[in-house]
Amino acid sequence: MLIEAIKLTAKFKLKETPKGLGDLFQTYREIVNFLITYAFENNITSFYRLKKETYKSLRKEYPKLPSHYLYTACQMATSIFKSFRKRKKKGKAKGGPVFKKEAIMLDDHLFKLDLEKRLVKLSTPNGRIQLEFYPAKYHEKFKDWKVGQAWLVRTPKGVFLNVVFSREVEVRELKAFVGVDLNENNVTLSLPNGEFVQIITHEREIRTGYFVKRRRIQQKIRAGRKRKELLEKYGWREKNRLNDLYHKLANKIVELAEKYGGIALEDLTEIRESIRYSAEMNGRLHRWSFHKLQSIIEYKAKLKGVKVVFVNPAFTSCLCPVCGGKLSPNGGRVLKCSKCGFEADRDVVGSWNIRLRALKMWGVSVPPESPPMKMGGGKPTRYEINTLHSLYG
Ligand SMILES: [Zn+2]
Repeated sequence: MLIEAIKLTAKFKLKETPKGLGDLFQTYREIVNFLITYAFENNITSFYRLKKETYKSLRKEYPKLPSHYLYTACQMATSIFKSFRKRKKKGKAKGGPVFKKEAIMLDDHLFKLDLEKRLVKLSTPNGRIQLEFYPAKYHEKFKDWKVGQAWLVRTPKGVFLNVVFSREVEVRELKAFVGVDLNENNVTLSLPNGEFVQIITHEREIRTGYFVKRRRIQQKIRAGRKRKELLEKYGWREKNRLNDLYHKLANKIVELAEKYGGIALEDLTEIRESIRYSAEMNGRLHRWSFHKLQSIIEYKAKLKGVKVVFVNPAFTSCLCPVCGGKLSPNGGRVLKCSKCGFEADRDVVGSWNIRLRALKMWGVSVPPESPPMKMGGGKPTRYEINTLHSLYG
């Protein structure tokens, strides 16, 4: 049986922030910046070398600071310098690297988490302190997960403890793939048993609704803080609503794919080149959406040991899944093959081709497709998103 480790970061907001914490943020930033400059001037990308060459002098300068802060600062400095070097090579960075954020990296010596009591014990220059935090999303879920490293981050909204949790999951046997075609208003699935399932999401209506709301605010209130606050408020509401939608969708997709062990999605990194999306997906928000939904599917699939693969999205709705011939529009969203006469809804064609591509790519033995399949003229079983429950399951 194959075992795989998966990781997830949870955000805990601290209830109060003691005064000493502000000093710690400042000290830490000073140290990281000293280390970055040192790494930059001496061109050091190795964590061990950076630590070796700077540890003694830093120890002297900050005698009360627990030593593991110096270790994590070295880790942060090396990774910041490395990414700076990468950007510089591409001509995207000027001057020297600087660390401006208020963030402290913590390893397991510096903090102890108590999920049950919602407490974190933190080592500081003034000894161990206890901090209370609010429950996070998925809070209950993490109880039996392993705690990895963490970050203490100060934002205008408060101080957060971001903890990386990890867990081992059993990987299921990969028997076949469920092909998933993500569209703005529906998600269509092609199942290995020849069935098609379509979930109507109404995402476009939700988006249009919020778009109109924001438009009205912009027309009514010309400028000022109130306008900004209202726009932000509705922006958050829209994101939350879509997030809920994506969790519901992802749960259903993973549930349907569980017994087959595999999910095939389109590789959206190629989205710019894809002709098919150019009209439907112009706009950053959409891209945010699709990436977000994909990452939720990926994460939920991982938790269940289901494999997710990405296939080339080009021409998935132009070629006949039965004979490989060219498809042409035949009224509405229906496509017809000029070679074999196969006819189906374009979303059905898309999801079917995505599934077939995954089979080819992954060399899973392909049982002969039986055209024209069980589906009556390519009619999928339809579900409304509102009838799917198990939110955040
Ligand atoms: Zn055909």
